[in-house]
Amino acid sequence: MAEKAPYIWMDGAFVRWAEARVHVLSEVVTRGISVFEGIRAYRGRDDLYVFRYAEHMARLAQSMKVLRLRPSHDIEALTEAGLELIRRCDFRDDTYLRPCVYIGEGDAHSHDPAKVFMGAFITAIERPSLRAMAPGKHFCISSWRRLNDAAMPPRVKASANYLNARLAQVQARVDGYDGSILLRDNGKVSEAPGACIMLVRGDEVIAPHAASDILESITRETLITLARDELGLKVVEREVDRTELYIADEVWMCGTGQEIVPIISVDRLPVGTGEIGPVASRLRTLYFDIVSGEVEQYAHWLRPVYGEKNEICLQSGLEAP
Ligand code: PMP
Repeated sequence: MAEKAPYIWMDGAFVRWAEARVHVLSEVVTRGISVFEGIRAYRGRDDLYVFRYAEHMARLAQSMKVLRLRPSHDIEALTEAGLELIRRCDFRDDTYLRPCVYIGEGDAHSHDPAKVFMGAFITAIERPSLRAMAPGKHFCISSWRRLNDAAMPPRVKASANYLNARLAQVQARVDGYDGSILLRDNGKVSEAPGACIMLVRGDEVIAPHAASDILESITRETLITLARDELGLKVVEREVDRTELYIADEVWMCGTGQEIVPIISVDRLPVGTGEIGPVASRLRTLYFDIVSGEVEQYAHWLRPVYGEKNEICLQSGLEAP
């Protein structure tokens, strides 16, 4: 794979990009057994800021707990290693950080956690934010259903869950849409592959509630807070019907990677005026000001990468590559 960064952190060491390998017979390769996080760091005026890092790492810990993955390194060590990785790569622009905890080689058939190697790696690559407003997207309702908590828990950010996302996304693209929205087993709205869905109807912002077979999105929670506290809007978390998407004033998807992407048609029916709506626009402006460190009140959501520098390296006992 083309080199996107000089280093990757793997099981306690900083290794060169090309040296970060797992064996083909590892559980992570054969059965996709791993959990991960997708985290953005944004370039601000004085520093690079990791957005809601603690919340992402807490979710990684939850994913590990549900799948009974023993950490090879604790969450604090992984957190510090991620920051140090960005510094070693000397990334100063928008960066995408991905810690992953995986099952490697061992006696896979025993299902005894003590008999398999559980490791962790972290990648950091430069990934520009989509700050510039992209054109609104045309989505469909997928004929695939969202996986559910009784089978493959969606609130666990597990690699294998993305098989469900891929089925929906590839189908949507082949059928000429930009993307898709998945319904739950009960026909209610769940989420998009890789992002949550929010809508506006009248003076209410609506989000499918946390038990809607969604990943409990940190961006969704951020936007709920901002819509309520900054825009003064009423926010309701509840079940959402498919046809509400057709008659909504605004629909958007949100997630760390996607940020906030307006959806201007669903199943070829225009959403609202068929243009990007005012609430999505205002939330986007606010969001990008906050992630860039421009809003003091939300500075606690940001973890500076370079401000703390060498102390972190010394504390975590990490060796230079
Ligand atoms: N749902 C799924 C399935 C996702 O993969 C993501 C991206 N992590 C999201 C929702 C959005 O979550 P977050 O805002 O925490 O990135």
